[in-house]
Amino acid sequence: MTETEKAATGKEPHGLVLVHTGDGKGKTTAALGLALRAWGDGLRVLILQFIKGGWKYGELHAIQALAKSSAGGTIALRQRGLGFTRKGNVDAEEHRRAAKEALDEARAAITSGAWDLIVLDEINYAVKFGLLDVSDVLALLDARPQGLHLVLTGRDAAPEVIARADLVTEMHLVKHPFQKGIQAQKGIEF
Ligand code: ATP
Ligand code: MG
Repeated sequence: MTETEKAATGKEPHGLVLVHTGDGKGKTTAALGLALRAWGDGLRVLILQFIKGGWKYGELHAIQALAKSSAGGTIALRQRGLGFTRKGNVDAEEHRRAAKEALDEARAAITSGAWDLIVLDEINYAVKFGLLDVSDVLALLDARPQGLHLVLTGRDAAPEVIARADLVTEMHLVKHPFQKGIQAQKGIEF
């Protein structure tokens, strides 16, 4: 039996590539839900953010509390990349440099053997904005050890990434309170 066949039996760890994309809300929060479940199962979880601003204080506080707790596995959250401002006053080159640094960190984490689940939050968006090449992301998938699960979030995931993924969920916008002018609510949006 080959390694892949063994993994398919469910008896060997079979690292999955999961993609959360689409224009509806829930991509990052679904990844955090997976991170929570994995941590509770004793796995080592790293969450790495490619575009600053996607995480809010609620999840930062929650993950800090989990990181201190001895009840589950290991969890760490690293905010990298730069945020987009309305004025767009951050130089594109600076954005690219910050995204490349996050990419280098992702590659090091993926090959380190130190993690069981890595969330690359907003990496799809970083490709969409031209901060990263899709080939950089495909190279990360190639570097992945057998048992490592990788979650890639962000709208407009590249077709090449979707083709390589094992699981793709598209969040589809049906309704959003913003459309009725309802402001962001604590615990839901931030
Ligand atoms: P969440 O972090 O809530 O899971 P997301 O990761 O799916 O959202 P992003 O594309 O990362 O969404 O957008 C970041 C912010 O925009 C979040 O605060 C989110 O609540 C909000 N948002 C997401 N989808 C929509 C939408 N369709 N209309 C308005 N705001 C949205
Ligand atoms: Mg998000």
